[in-house]
Amino acid sequence: MNRLNTQTEFSDKKPKYLTRLHQVSELGDNEREQLADVNDKFIFRSNDYYNSLIDWNDPKDPIRRIVIPEVQELEEWGQLDASGEEEYTVAPGIEHKYDSTALLLVNEVCAAYCRFCFRKRLFMDDNDEVTKDITGGLAYIREHKEINNVLLTGGDPLIMSTSKLEPIIQKLREVEHVRIIRIGSKIPAFNPMRIYNDDSLREMFRKYSTSMNRIYIMAHFNHPRELTPQAIRGLTFLMESGAIVVNQTPMITGVNDDPKVLGALFNQLSFIGVPPYYVFHCRPTLGNKPYTMPVERAYEIFEKARTFCSGLGKRARFVMSHQSGKIECVGMTEKNIYFRYQRAANNQNSARFMVFKRNPEAYWFDDYTELVDDGSVWGEEFEDAYEMDDMMNAV
Ligand code: SF4
Repeated sequence: MNRLNTQTEFSDKKPKYLTRLHQVSELGDNEREQLADVNDKFIFRSNDYYNSLIDWNDPKDPIRRIVIPEVQELEEWGQLDASGEEEYTVAPGIEHKYDSTALLLVNEVCAAYCRFCFRKRLFMDDNDEVTKDITGGLAYIREHKEINNVLLTGGDPLIMSTSKLEPIIQKLREVEHVRIIRIGSKIPAFNPMRIYNDDSLREMFRKYSTSMNRIYIMAHFNHPRELTPQAIRGLTFLMESGAIVVNQTPMITGVNDDPKVLGALFNQLSFIGVPPYYVFHCRPTLGNKPYTMPVERAYEIFEKARTFCSGLGKRARFVMSHQSGKIECVGMTEKNIYFRYQRAANNQNSARFMVFKRNPEAYWFDDYTELVDDGSVWGEEFEDAYEMDDMMNAV
């Protein structure tokens, strides 16, 4: 498929899913053979729409890096659950790490699989962290009044039919203290036709994303070339249906680790009304060595990218989703690096500011060992969790 044909070819038709490398006709026999072991270890899935965005003449094409396996994934590096998500699994299919936020893992399938996925363990045979029966998760959410927002994730909730997704949204809307429902999805990039060809999806957002209680789509665009006319049509459809759309992306070697590429992504997102929200440092997940880079290199790229953007394009924060919380990198000097907890699993760490000696070899927060200032004075002030009622009474 020629990239130029994509716009007309795929405006309405359903993409064809590809689950075996031999279905990817653009790969040569040799390449498929070389990648067979990777394919056995980490699942492959893509579709013909997304593959049509790849320049197959360029072995380093960034879109190709997102979905086509690399032999280097076989290097034994990293952990399957690098952010320790299992520790926060409070019942089948539900994670509760931060007071106000709960995650419901509603399925274990994506429209394609990102090679650098931090949840690749969910796509393996013996995973039991996802459940289609959300009864237990809902009961937990009902009991915990401090939860005012719930993220539907997995997998990709938007790969489910609207008739399966809507009852989940409906039940969450019945819980009075749940104000925000978020849906984490790469469908707008992988298969935008699934969105704008489904009128029932529009109706669902119109009904349940209300002026007082919005549904947010946490979109996942890694590279500006994913923002095709179809993708923009899908995003516009979501926004016009009443959903709020923001974007989050990990920083991935060979995909968006270039300030101009990342800056272009931020700018284009801001032009179409989608705020860049988080840039995640690529997690040290098993198989992710070819996709990650040292923290300080990533932070430099992030800051340089922001210099190309207006204030609206520079709203993202650069964070590590660490087991202890979302740790934002907020600055760097010749000697030191400055971190702050954006979200903390332990309330005592909320807003905690930390200064470490720089370590250019650090791939993750745990690699910073020389603490200069631990900001503990601040921690004592942020111990308590507040329920929504407490906060409203304080106003
Ligand atoms: S869309 Fe998200 S959950 Fe799915 S493979 Fe990509 S990173 Fe993983």
